[in-house]
Amino acid sequence: MTLIDETITIPAGGPTLEQVRRVVTELPGPRSAAILSRKTDAVAAGIAHSVPVAVVAAGGGVVLDADGNSLIDLGSGIAVTSVGNAHPAVAAAIAAQAAQFTHTCFMVSPYESYVEVAEALNRLTPGAHAKKTALFNSGAEAVENAIKIARKHTGRQAVVAFDHGYHGRTNLTMALTAKAMPYKAGFGPFAPEVYRVPGSYPYRDGLTGPEAAQRAITLIEKQIGADGLAAVIIEPIQGEGGFIVPADGFLDAIVAWCRAHGVVFIADEVQTGFARTGAMFASEIFGIEPDLVTTAKGIAAGLPLAGVTGRAEIMDAAHPGGLGGTYGGNPVACAAAIAAISAFENEGLVERAQQIGTILQERLRAIAAADPRIGDVRGHGAMVAAEFVDPATGEPDAALTGAVAKACIAQGVIVLTCGTFGNVIRFLPPLSIGDDLLRDGLDVVAAALAGIRQD
Ligand SMILES: *Cc1c(COP(=O)(O)O)cnc(C)c1O
Repeated sequence: MTLIDETITIPAGGPTLEQVRRVVTELPGPRSAAILSRKTDAVAAGIAHSVPVAVVAAGGGVVLDADGNSLIDLGSGIAVTSVGNAHPAVAAAIAAQAAQFTHTCFMVSPYESYVEVAEALNRLTPGAHAKKTALFNSGAEAVENAIKIARKHTGRQAVVAFDHGYHGRTNLTMALTAKAMPYKAGFGPFAPEVYRVPGSYPYRDGLTGPEAAQRAITLIEKQIGADGLAAVIIEPIQGEGGFIVPADGFLDAIVAWCRAHGVVFIADEVQTGFARTGAMFASEIFGIEPDLVTTAKGIAAGLPLAGVTGRAEIMDAAHPGGLGGTYGGNPVACAAAIAAISAFENEGLVERAQQIGTILQERLRAIAAADPRIGDVRGHGAMVAAEFVDPATGEPDAALTGAVAKACIAQGVIVLTCGTFGNVIRFLPPLSIGDDLLRDGLDVVAAALAGIRQD
């Protein structure tokens, strides 16, 4: 079954796909180039892409393109296919559910799989308190709803977000997001009553966690006021902003302050959730129990699903009919989530993320030790990044970062960049990747950096 070219045979995706890096054409090859040319004509220019291929199959640790190029996947479609693309149990669950029914609208006539996903999220998110869950379609939609719920619960309006934060591309989540280009530039006006304060960025601010927390709290108290503040929202490890791991003591101080002032603390775990950081949720690493947790990305192996999970008394603040959406908690997406969550719990993927993290950190630290253009290596589990700088000044080097990423992709390794300053390469391999493939991918990164002249 292919629209590409009836003369080529496309293998099945999933773990049986040949696990090899193989570049047989320039990227894009001719078949991919033809599809990308149609993309240029048919798809809005605002929808960009960073890897110039047309994908036909993926699984384990590779992505196969229409020309037979097999690329090592160190991005998981931005931390989504953590259980592996076309995971057999997920694919089977999707097929079985699609053959039963594909939609009723949960707000019209409910079904068990939605309830089962809610029960799983209530059980797996941090804290033993009574919890409830609502399901949506995307991370941004989950964040929007977490804010709605916090406002209804507190009767307050203001929301605090942080420097380098990323929460989505809808109007409210653009307001919460820090970076102008490409996420916000030209798209305003943005939602009101959103305030941004500095967080904790140990490599660049040199503050301890408690110092950084006090800086934020002082600004909140003096410039916003606790009385009107509904919620504080933060990614426990900031994703798009540069995989920024806050200093110890930062997050718990913010949580304690929120609790003392009746402010809802929302952990946006859309990118950090589901075993990615070597814990089921990154909040566990920092010993915090958020009032609300937003999830998406890794939850359903690529099917669009997102959740807001949190304290039952907060989640129940919204009146019946106040939350929802036509597709939220779609049954096919829920079936995928149940299979993916079972894989996270029963296939040792939390431990696997830790092992992958050890391989990533050891290799990247070794490269950094010999090359001062890598200023910092940081992360947890299979969420690790290298920050590229001008060794003389410590200034961010976005040009070098882009060149390294481009060279990696040309050699058949998918890497993603991020960071407010565009100077971070992030590593988010699927947890189904093998050690050999991962090491080969890191060899390519090392060679790419070495091949770019140091001025
Ligand atoms: C990706 C992301 C979002 C937005 O999720 P979408 O599904 O793209 O709407 C929100 N928050 C964080 C932390 C993210 O990484």
